[in-house]
Amino acid sequence: MTILPIQIYGEPVLHSPAEPVGEITDEVRALVADMLETMTAAPGVGLAAPQVGVGKRLFVYDWTDEEGVRHHGTAIDPELWLAPSTPESIDELDDEEESEGCLSFPGERFPIRRSARVILRARDLEGEPYELVAEGWLARILQHEYDHLDGVIYVDRLEVPIWKTAQKTMRKRRWGVPGNSWTPGVDDLEG
Ligand code: ZN
Repeated sequence: MTILPIQIYGEPVLHSPAEPVGEITDEVRALVADMLETMTAAPGVGLAAPQVGVGKRLFVYDWTDEEGVRHHGTAIDPELWLAPSTPESIDELDDEEESEGCLSFPGERFPIRRSARVILRARDLEGEPYELVAEGWLARILQHEYDHLDGVIYVDRLEVPIWKTAQKTMRKRRWGVPGNSWTPGVDDLEG
């Protein structure tokens, strides 16, 4: 297994819709193994194939909740349904509770509103279809990773004042153009 370089905001593969995986070949299995190793090394709670430069519709996730329950899996050719927004969604964004980060925009966190509940339908690495109903932070992770498959990074969804802050960071770090990546364990960057 190999720790793969993680592409940074500006690399075209991150900003284009990914292609269906289709048949689960040895190549796909090797990619998932490398993605799991890369996600663990970063460390991160989710990683989508476009983030390691592969424009395929799959992501991995691994997150342990406050009660110590581990939620992890591989989602191949997933579909995601979002629950309608709840009354809380008109409240102000909460910096603590609603901030997320992205390994392709490393070292930064910004608040963003997400659906409280989602349904994920996907295939696992054995090709078995499954359905997962997720709430709270897990729902957030799934929305974040699913977005990557459509060429959307959470930074693109930020509300305008926060989006401007993110744009400043991007200019300062010289991101937003092709050719930037970092490798966990090699480059001194935080996810
Ligand atoms: Zn991300």
